[in-house]
Amino acid sequence: MTPPLAAAGFANDEAVLIPMEMHSPVDLADDLERFRNKLTSYLKPDEVARIESAYVFGNAAHLGQFRSSGDPYISHPLAVADTLADWHLDAQALTAALLHDVMEDSAVPKQEIAEKFGKAVADLVDGVSKIDRIENQSFEEAQAENFRKMLLAMARDVRVILIKLSDRLHNMRTLGAVPPHKRRRVARETLDIYAPIANRLGLNALYRQLQELAFRHLRPLRYRVLEKAVKRARGNRRQVVDKIMEALRLRLPEAGIEAEVMGREKHLYSIYRKMRQKHLSFSQVLDIYGFRVIVKDTPTCYLALGVLHGLYKPVPGKFKDYIAIPKANGYQSLHSTLIGPYGTPVEVQIRSHAMHHIAESGVASHWLYKDETALDELQKKTHKWLKSLIELQSASGDSTEFLENVKVDLFPDEVYVFTPLGKILVLPRGSTAVDFAYMVHTDIGNRCVACRINFEMMPLRTELRNGDRVEIITADLPNPNPTWLSYVKSSKARAQIRHFLKTQQTDESMALGERLLGQALHGLGVELDDLSNAVWDRFVRGCGAKSKHAVLTDIGLGKRHTAIVARQLVADRQLEGGVPLKNKRQVSILVNGDDGVAMQLAKCCRPIPGDPIVGIIRKGQGLVIHTHDCRSIGKSGHERDNWVDVDWAQGIERFFEVNIRIVTENRRGVLAKITSEIAAGGSDIQNVSIENDPGRYTTLNFTLQVTSRIHLARIMRGLRRITEVVRITRTKD
Ligand code: MN
Repeated sequence: MTPPLAAAGFANDEAVLIPMEMHSPVDLADDLERFRNKLTSYLKPDEVARIESAYVFGNAAHLGQFRSSGDPYISHPLAVADTLADWHLDAQALTAALLHDVMEDSAVPKQEIAEKFGKAVADLVDGVSKIDRIENQSFEEAQAENFRKMLLAMARDVRVILIKLSDRLHNMRTLGAVPPHKRRRVARETLDIYAPIANRLGLNALYRQLQELAFRHLRPLRYRVLEKAVKRARGNRRQVVDKIMEALRLRLPEAGIEAEVMGREKHLYSIYRKMRQKHLSFSQVLDIYGFRVIVKDTPTCYLALGVLHGLYKPVPGKFKDYIAIPKANGYQSLHSTLIGPYGTPVEVQIRSHAMHHIAESGVASHWLYKDETALDELQKKTHKWLKSLIELQSASGDSTEFLENVKVDLFPDEVYVFTPLGKILVLPRGSTAVDFAYMVHTDIGNRCVACRINFEMMPLRTELRNGDRVEIITADLPNPNPTWLSYVKSSKARAQIRHFLKTQQTDESMALGERLLGQALHGLGVELDDLSNAVWDRFVRGCGAKSKHAVLTDIGLGKRHTAIVARQLVADRQLEGGVPLKNKRQVSILVNGDDGVAMQLAKCCRPIPGDPIVGIIRKGQGLVIHTHDCRSIGKSGHERDNWVDVDWAQGIERFFEVNIRIVTENRRGVLAKITSEIAAGGSDIQNVSIENDPGRYTTLNFTLQVTSRIHLARIMRGLRRITEVVRITRTKD
């Protein structure tokens, strides 16, 4: 029996020697005819019709586009779908294969594909396009393993990977048409990324072929030398091969075993690799003869092994039972090395037909061998193997449908993203840009203020997706935000943020506490420095605090009432016989606008220098600065105790955000006039929203950056001069 994949041009070992001939133009009509015949051999007429309509659609989308070879572009998706038809993939996958480049190359929106060909097909095309996009990222060679994982994780459907692999196969087959430097890059990528994925999926024949093609383009000279050497050696080997073949074909039936025996040619790339890795000469590598024996079932495999060991002496330590213990990708066979005629080593692989199918076509064997009698055994094995592949945690048994398992999260707990330099980082699923920043470096995490994801400014809390390119924008000074703790996922980020906040909060709060207490004491006619250590000691002991520092920190955090502490200290001091109280005017805490943990500007009224302000200390919030007329502070009169006298520091040099509302006439170009006036006034626009009103007037809400009230007034004056502007107000909501 000929393995069906041999017909597909892969399994037959001899077919792997690829002639270096010139490209001949494709004959589309011919290819299409062949493709159609394959389809009708296993698909229903309505499915075939749908696939044909996808071809027509794809052809129109790619019209006027050409391959490097000069062939019309549609020849490529057609070849990709054709390979998948060899694997008997379903109609959805074939439809998607024909359309796999229309999103990236012809800008056809996903929605349109979904409307015409269904959501499943659109998802497959989208999956392939996403992989195409990350392919264009440069990545470090050492990261190949992570890149492969990222790719598998992004696919989410095994069929996406099969389309991608088939895509890569055709690109490799037509690689001769692209410029040499690009050829080498693609070949290297194929060897590092795609061939191992094919191997992992058990697509052995495809794996070998990708390797051979990549080798040929990466090391063209060595490839040619080896190719010639193998051809020359084949003649000399023929005699030995025939002799062994004859012995096997005679002995096995004698023992009642029906078997298919075939000689195995070595692949050029594997010869090359063995020569390099084991430092062997060409003849040493080639002097090993390989045979494959295929029998009907598992017990017969062991029977055949017995017969072969009786025929030629086995080499001790060379027997491997991959039937009892299959390889990770599902591969099963018995391997043994025998001493053949003339003392030459003979490697044999013994396997059943079902094992052979899986060995050659891995995950694709599910589609390929659907109708065969061995289906049960095969399906069970494929299933089991897929399960090990996807590392499903809940081994639920055989009742699960195969296709449900085709859609899988290959790496459910991880997300793979790029740094701007192409390094791949592995983060826990659900991680945000903040997690990423801390993963790069603790210092980057502490100083991060914004991020770009795939070259677009995004909020720091954005959840990262596989393949994202993440760039962190940092400030000069560290400033982690307590709200980050509510969404970071990685334990590293969490621990570092906590650590920073704790240290910083203590320092800042203590400083603030000192200022607050100083102010309160001053109001009572005592200076902080006037208090002796003895007064402090008594107070600390009396209130059960750990130390003076702890008391000051507590005040800064709003945990202790400043006025009460101040009065108590003053009373203690008088007990000690201190000088009587002088009446002094209260002095203000100075605000310079640097937001911190201990002192913040209120988000409701957004005070700017020049505004009359008031500070309010609240437990757990530290000191919050509001404008005098802020509505949020007037509501609760009983908080007056917590009011703190504050004032703006002199010479503040930084920007503050402020909201203004502008009502203008609805006229063309008015927004441009306003924004250029704001820019001319030396302010940046942080945000603008437009209240849609179809009538005569429009309301625009701006968030601007200004240095002070005077600056704002100047800008507003400028804006009023614009004729269309009806009203400008500063908003404090
Ligand atoms: Mn393609």
